[in-house]
Amino acid sequence: MAEFSIIDLYFKRTSKTDVSLGIGDDSAVITPPTSQQLVICADTLVAGRHFPVDTSAHAIGWKSVAVNLSDLAAMGAKPHSILLALSLPTIDHDWLAGFSQGLFDCCDQFGVSLIGGDTTQSTQLTISVTALGWIEHGQAVTRAGAQVGDYICVSGQIGDAAFGLQHLGHALQKRLDYPTPRCLLGQQLKTVASSMIDISDGLAQDLGHILKASDVGAKLFLDQIPIDKSLKLLDKQQAWHYVLAGGDDYELCFTISPQNFEKLSRQQLDVPITIIGEITQQTGLLFEYMGEIHPLHVHGYQHFA
Ligand code: ADP
Ligand code: MG
Repeated sequence: MAEFSIIDLYFKRTSKTDVSLGIGDDSAVITPPTSQQLVICADTLVAGRHFPVDTSAHAIGWKSVAVNLSDLAAMGAKPHSILLALSLPTIDHDWLAGFSQGLFDCCDQFGVSLIGGDTTQSTQLTISVTALGWIEHGQAVTRAGAQVGDYICVSGQIGDAAFGLQHLGHALQKRLDYPTPRCLLGQQLKTVASSMIDISDGLAQDLGHILKASDVGAKLFLDQIPIDKSLKLLDKQQAWHYVLAGGDDYELCFTISPQNFEKLSRQQLDVPITIIGEITQQTGLLFEYMGEIHPLHVHGYQHFA
């Protein structure tokens, strides 16, 4: 079957959002809203590396979109569209039907259109998605703005996906397979957060990126990090390992001044947020537990380790 039929069968749909020219020509055309900046990112999922090989096609479709929308959310951007570069070992219609359904389910939930891509054959199943979003000029939240005295906050629960990966079949596997990009929260945070990142490689490592970019340090209150009841049953060391070094949660981690936190808590949010620490002048990552302060040495997921 030709590449074109795959595209027509599985990926060509009428756009549900504002797209000037979608799939079918050499490039797509979109019209930027006035005084908005384009926010753009890409993420690749490789079978066996970024998801277990027996993950359902539907979940892979969902996740390949969700991880990119999460990167847009972490900047405070409103997602608009995606491009899909797909490398397939074989043409498996059941797989393609499930994958495209999962991809479009995620697109529909967050008001995003698939506007183009590329389809090739290769030995390894590889899915690369590029996502585009908009933000008011100058409002993108970077990793570099954390200030001494800011609170460190996270959305949702941390450690669920890492636990799910080690306990396939457990209810928390859903958090691994179907992460929820925090698109609305990200946009609500753009005017109040001083820095932001999404948690893909583990809380300690991802927060570390904020600390480095902002040239500050942090103290974490480990007992305040929101975790699932399944993690509460574990030995503390084990639970902290999932929380600090596990990846794939796609929750937002952000810093915010106490005044702005007050403002934020008066707003209606679609996911709970929790204060888990504070930004310090002294660089490095410390944690407080039972009134004592300790240095924190954990490493998250590293692709070339
Ligand atoms: P070209 O040869 O000019 O690069 P292609 O034949 O690769 O064009 O693609 C034809 C059209 O289908 C283009 O609009 C392209 O963006 C789109 N397309 C190709 N593969 C995909 C895919 N996996 N998902 C969505 N759109 C795709
Ligand atoms: Mg092509």
